[in-house]
Amino acid sequence: MQPFSYSVAGDVRAASRLALEDPRSRYLAGGTTLVDLMKLDVEQPTQLIDISKLPLAELAILGDGGVRIGAMVRNSDLAHNEAVRTRYPVLSQAVLAGASGQVRNMATTAGNLLQRTRCSYFRDTATPCNKRDAGSGCSAIGGYNRMHAVLGTSDSCIATHPSDMAVALVALDARVRILGPGGERIMRLSELYRLPGQHPERETTLEAGDLIMAVEIPPLRFASHSLYLKVRDRASFAFALASAAVALDVVEGTVREARVALGGVGTRPWRSPEAEQALRGQPANVTSYRCAADAALAGALPRTHNAFKIELARRTLVRALLRLEGR
Ligand SMILES: Cc1cc2nc3c(=O)[nH]c(=O)nc-3n(C[C@H](O)[C@H](O)[C@H](O)COP(=O)(O)OP(=O)(O)OC[C@H]3O[C@@H](n4cnc5c(N)ncnc54)[C@H](O)[C@@H]3O)c2cc1C
Ligand code: SF4
Repeated sequence: MQPFSYSVAGDVRAASRLALEDPRSRYLAGGTTLVDLMKLDVEQPTQLIDISKLPLAELAILGDGGVRIGAMVRNSDLAHNEAVRTRYPVLSQAVLAGASGQVRNMATTAGNLLQRTRCSYFRDTATPCNKRDAGSGCSAIGGYNRMHAVLGTSDSCIATHPSDMAVALVALDARVRILGPGGERIMRLSELYRLPGQHPERETTLEAGDLIMAVEIPPLRFASHSLYLKVRDRASFAFALASAAVALDVVEGTVREARVALGGVGTRPWRSPEAEQALRGQPANVTSYRCAADAALAGALPRTHNAFKIELARRTLVRALLRLEGR
């Protein structure tokens, strides 16, 4: 591990200012992934700004029926919150599908959204990786890529985005509230994540000094009819091979509105407007769900070892929609 300085932020503006002064600093939230990466020398911050004392741990129901989740709300508290469980079951289920009880007790909302890929080459500093070391090459494209992405890839990087929570949140069209040098701003969560393109080292649209303050979920009439399904190598404590976050508004057997996002297969949490469009106005049955799944995966690009993910993701999405229909 490289030497670094450590300070505890007293208020949000001071935290943001400190980070702006030294672009190689990192905020320390739960530390469950950042410290891991520092031990591996993948992350080498010069300064850690501990934000755990900041007043960002409130989970509030908004006047319009939406929810604001503070950046420091622990994953366990989020998943077990009664309002979240009943209004947005997809979110509670997604959080509980990730990591372990112990990790979720430490891990925070913003930390979860900003966790780095689990590509094994990214975590191995002895191998080339464009995301870790810009321009060095991608070891996964010609290497062992069973866990890698089939959607949103480039010839520079095919790493998946690992967060389960983020998949549910993009399906719910969540926003992120950010404090930066220019003040506060709010953006759609889907706009936070960049596609890898030729610059996989730039993963988000955050700038130096930006601090995530909260995530806000707008009210969604049919969000209580939603579900998260995750398929993985082990029954627990494993990242997704494929996952689906779905919400359906069905009236008299016809899909009026739908939300669909996929995990484990995309370079970012993958909302699928194509699948949503394919479902709208169609009968709520397996034939429509298969058409939606085909639409969601139409642009998928397989590599040597991960072609199975295309069919797996299709089936995961169809099964998620069938399970939801049965509820
Ligand atoms: C063994 C293991 C298994 C796991 N399995 C899963 C899984 O199956 N699914 C899943 O989704 N996750 C999984 N995780 C990831 C886990 O959910 C993350 O480690 C956790 O959510 C990170 O949260 P944290 O608060 O500890 O973040 P930290 O490690 O403290 O920070 C992560 C990053 O976020 C930045 N950051 C934190 N807060 C802010 C903020 N407010 N503003 C700006 N930047 C910020 C930090 O600077 C850092 O770069 C697993 C982790 C482990 C260790
Ligand atoms: S897939 Fe991305 S993260 Fe993995 S080795 Fe290639 S460039 Fe690095």
